[in-house]
This record gives sequence, C-alpha cells and structure tokens, in this order.
Amino acid sequence: MIPVNKMITSRSTKKDNTVVDLGSCRIGDGSLTIIAGPCAVESLDQMIYLARLLKKMGVAIIRGGAFKPRTSPYSFQGLGEEGLKILSAASAETGLPFVTEATDSRSLEIACRYADVIQIGSRNMQNFSLLREAGKSKKPVLLKRGFSSTLEEWIMAAEYIASEGNQKIIFCERGIRTFENYTRNTMDISAIPAIKELSHFPVVADPSHGTGRRSLVGPLSRASVAAGADGLMLEVHENPPEALSDGPQSLYPAELEALLPSLKALHGACDVA
Ligand code: PEP
Ligand code: MN
Repeated sequence: MIPVNKMITSRSTKKDNTVVDLGSCRIGDGSLTIIAGPCAVESLDQMIYLARLLKKMGVAIIRGGAFKPRTSPYSFQGLGEEGLKILSAASAETGLPFVTEATDSRSLEIACRYADVIQIGSRNMQNFSLLREAGKSKKPVLLKRGFSSTLEEWIMAAEYIASEGNQKIIFCERGIRTFENYTRNTMDISAIPAIKELSHFPVVADPSHGTGRRSLVGPLSRASVAAGADGLMLEVHENPPEALSDGPQSLYPAELEALLPSLKALHGACDVA
C-alpha cells in the first residue's frame, strides 16, 4: 500500500487546510457553511419556496436529491433530470449553488451538467468506478461516509477521487451503523476532528441522517460545530409529515431559522481553526 505520507489526501502531504471555493462561498476557510434543503426535490413550487427562505436565513448552499438511493424499490425514487432542472431554477432565483447526489455513472453525467457540487452518498462510498468518474469530472465532490466504513476506508475513497486529479473534496460525516437503534445511525462526532487530523480537506456534518430524528438535529448540529465541522448539511421540508423522503428527520423551516444563531455563536466561541 502507498505510504500515508505519499497520499494526496493526507495531512502529512499538505499541512494547510484545502479550501473548496464555490465562488459565492468557501468551504474549509474557517467559516461555517450551511447546506440545507429537502431530502428529495418534489416540485418546482416547493424548491423555489424553500430556496427563497433559505437564502433569507443565510444558508450558503441548497441541497436536494433527484436520483434517490432508496432502501425500497417501491419508495419515491426522485424526479431524475426534471429534479435537476428544478434545482437549477431555484439556484438561478437565489444565486445559491446546489449539491445533488449521483448514484451511478449515468446520473453523474447528467448531474454534472447542472450541479455545482456532486454528492456521493453513503451507499456508494466504495463504488470505486463512480469515485474515479467523479474525480475525472473535476466538479467539487461531497463524499459522505459509508455507514459501515472506517476512517481509513473513507479517506481511501477520497484518494480515489483525488488520484484522478480532483482536489475539490468535502468529507461529510453522516453517522454509522451501531447496535443502537433509537437513532437511525450513530453520529460519530469524533470523526470530525479525526478526519481533520488525518486529511487537509474540509469536513461537514449531517445530523439529519446521523440521528434520523428531528428533535436531535439541533443538539447534534451544535456538537458537530463544537467538534470543528466546517459546515453542516441539514434536511429541511416545508411540511415534513407529508415529505416523500426522510420527513421524520427534516426540520421545519422555522426550526432551522431558530437553530442558526446558536450555531453561529458556538462557531465563534470555539477556536477550531
Ligand atoms: C441524502 O443525503 O439524502 C442521503 C441519501 O444521504 P446518505 O447517503 O448519507 O444516506
Ligand atoms: Mn435524506
């Protein structure tokens, strides 16, 4: 195996933090980047409504799934390319960039035509051909942690992307599977400072998937910020009980708005540089 000190992603190769620059925001420069939006894009009206609200709240990046990796083949699978057109319209309306998931090479090719950031989801973290293609795409990649992956496996997945010449990588801790089942996953807060020790790429946290419970998203968001996260990815829906995907973990817009000041205050209070 290649020694750690030769790896592109390794902190020992590059001491300074890598900043992923999206033009309107910079992830990893010491600021706190908030990414928010519904789990899945459901309609144009929904996305425009949410994007306007999110913009007002100071959210930097919109999220929304168009190609959804659902556990059941009978669950809503996303709007596909139509969803990307909707996200593009919401982005044009607000000036905010957006992130969306690609689940295979076909959806990656389509997503690259629209999105500012490509998400590789937990289930695909070790889809090595998809990682290589995302690397070749040169788009910023938000790489979620596989729910049963070690930090080393996660960093190696990032190395696949970097080895293709793409150094615009954002790690996203989204919880791992443990024996505990009160929460959907177990949010591994320690992964945040650990990845920052091991790699120079920014790390954001996703307490929505990390907990699966709306009531726990606020506390785990604060914990993630205190642990040094460069940003948060939060699911928000205008009417969570009716959401087509991940309603129980989606915040109401008013809850997100109420949460943001405490995150900013904590970020200011913690010397996490
Ligand atoms: C998502 O972000 O909606 C998602 C499916 O995330 P994960 O891959 O972490 O489950
Ligand atoms: Mn989701």
